[in-house]
Amino acid sequence: MEHRTASLVAQRLAALGYQVKTGVGKTGVVGLLRGSGASGSGPERTVLLRADMDALPIHEANSVSYRSTADGVMHACGHDAHVAIGLAVARRLAADRGSWRGAVKFAFQPAEEGGNGALAMIEDGVLEAPRVDAAFGLHVMNNLPLGQIAATAGAIMGSVDRFTITIRGKGGHAAMPHEAVDPILAASHVIAALQSMVSRAADPFDQLVVSVTQFRAGDAFNVIPETAELGGTVRSMGGRMHAEAPQRLTAIVSGVAGALGCAATVDYVRQTPATVNDAAMAQLTARIAAQLVGEAAVLTAARTLGGEDFSFFLQRVPGCFAWVGSQNPARGFDAPHHSPHFDIDEEAMRTGVELMDRLAREYLR
Ligand SMILES: [Zn+2]
Ligand SMILES: [Zn+2]
Repeated sequence: MEHRTASLVAQRLAALGYQVKTGVGKTGVVGLLRGSGASGSGPERTVLLRADMDALPIHEANSVSYRSTADGVMHACGHDAHVAIGLAVARRLAADRGSWRGAVKFAFQPAEEGGNGALAMIEDGVLEAPRVDAAFGLHVMNNLPLGQIAATAGAIMGSVDRFTITIRGKGGHAAMPHEAVDPILAASHVIAALQSMVSRAADPFDQLVVSVTQFRAGDAFNVIPETAELGGTVRSMGGRMHAEAPQRLTAIVSGVAGALGCAATVDYVRQTPATVNDAAMAQLTARIAAQLVGEAAVLTAARTLGGEDFSFFLQRVPGCFAWVGSQNPARGFDAPHHSPHFDIDEEAMRTGVELMDRLAREYLR
């Protein structure tokens, strides 16, 4: 599916006069264009604008003319809007390349949803040749009313870590627990104890979430199983608890499981770092957003512990990731992201195009 999207994007960019590279980070597409405007003062710069392209394995429940035609695959996060916004901005910048200078590089990115496509594109050189000086990205946001834009300095989205815990006891008869070692009881205590990371170990002014979301054990009502498996995620905005989370979690798991006679192993994976906006770039974004929606509708302190792999760009170059409100309950656009009913008010796309277009021009000036 992403192959078809990528080839459409590549064709469109090429037709607009962009220098196009495909297969960047598997199915990513990069489009480069240099402005031919009169050189001003200072060196010419390159700005990267990113649009993620991937869909989700969800069967769309909407019955609109533009509903997904691929069974079981749906743009339930709005990344199709990001692609449309990216292509519209690309067309505008190509139409009057004599009015700006420097270079604009579009990164149409695959696999944002848990696949770290941003990192794959970076490893394939998207930030080089020419070297990127700043990066901007946006997300249409159904938690935010249409007409609002969020451009928060510092961390705007959380880090994503994932863990799998295996607790090994000794299987036996449910009626004779003294002859077994119950991994389900141990796992239950582990789940409760893990919340002490949030309530007792973290600074109350820091952000931390520990969610155990999977618990697998047992096949029969009268059997104490041999093992129990837990899965979950740790979210933070970086800082001390982000650094210490793997060790603390592992210590709690082995301590609690050990006290109950079980052995435990922990597989802890750092998936995505926190999305941290550069202060100056966030200020620039907020200033341009205010031109579009008015100062009162620009949020500069909005944050969530949801994850976003644009963070990998922001670890390497200054930039800003903004949210563009797309919620409009009056027209029925208020289903949450990743819902089979997800749909946005497309006015948000107009705002997104203006924002990205002006950001690129302003940064390159
Ligand atoms: Zn999503
Ligand atoms: Zn998304």
